[in-house]
Amino acid sequence: MAILFCNVGWMNNYNGAKGDIPKRGGAFNDHSIGHEVCNFTEIDGKIFGYVRSSGKINIKKLGAGKGDEFADGVTIVWTAGPDSGGTVVVGWYKNAKVYKEPQKLLKLSNIHKENKLDFYLIEANSVDAHLIPVNDRAILIPRAVKGGIGQSNVWYAQAPEAKNLVSRIQKYIKNRDFVDIFQDVDGGVGLEGNPRFKTHLIRERNRKIVKEKKQIVFSQTGKLECEVCSFNFKNTYGAIGEGFCEVHHLVPLHQADGLIETKLEDLAIVCSNCHRMLHKGNPLFKLTELKKMMTKKIGLKK
Ligand SMILES: [Zn+2]
Ligand SMILES: [Zn+2]
Repeated sequence: MAILFCNVGWMNNYNGAKGDIPKRGGAFNDHSIGHEVCNFTEIDGKIFGYVRSSGKINIKKLGAGKGDEFADGVTIVWTAGPDSGGTVVVGWYKNAKVYKEPQKLLKLSNIHKENKLDFYLIEANSVDAHLIPVNDRAILIPRAVKGGIGQSNVWYAQAPEAKNLVSRIQKYIKNRDFVDIFQDVDGGVGLEGNPRFKTHLIRERNRKIVKEKKQIVFSQTGKLECEVCSFNFKNTYGAIGEGFCEVHHLVPLHQADGLIETKLEDLAIVCSNCHRMLHKGNPLFKLTELKKMMTKKIGLKK
């Protein structure tokens, strides 16, 4: 099954520019509104998308034959970059038709008319289109890495290096499992809408590995002590603090694809205070950096 990554400007709804102007979609969007503004505007059960590609989309790479006008059955993964940085998946079309040449829309919605938009490149049934709500956009796509999405707005993801990412995204589209994990996260840290941070939290909420990390540290040291300030929940709170600590992910997200497998050595035992402070850094503070910043070594032994 062919897959095509299409990078567009960042919008909340892609349902007209009114109150939802695209940002950061490349140089084009710095000057005017992109044609992706109606990428999730429905017309009679269909959805019509556009991506600004530097050349024609190579539909042969998507399975089209010689002389074909379009490739069929393509999965479109829409990506965009929010102000907070990075590139994330914002939605997808399944079973899409991707045309070589822009197609004229035969019927326009009022929103299309308002936006003076009467052509498209990609077509799908609206039941096959899914837009991820802004606060759930947590799947980071690595850019400018070997075999990864480059500066171009369309990416065929056919390099061997992309295989892993593609299969994970296909799995995500199928199961939406990361979103389900995400629903368990309380957004109380105050960085809602920042996909880098969300992805970070999602990885930390992978219960199995968090449990394993705690077990291993406990079996090796006999305690769960904050690696920054040595705070120990059990020592401070007694029995209710037994076995309690938070687990922080050390690998900065710009070095990971956001869907990468977490290893035990990538995790650190921290207390809730230090954990929040680590997250105040952008990029995240290192444990040693935070340790140096601490003016009062509360939990530390004299
Ligand atoms: Zn601490
Ligand atoms: Zn953390």
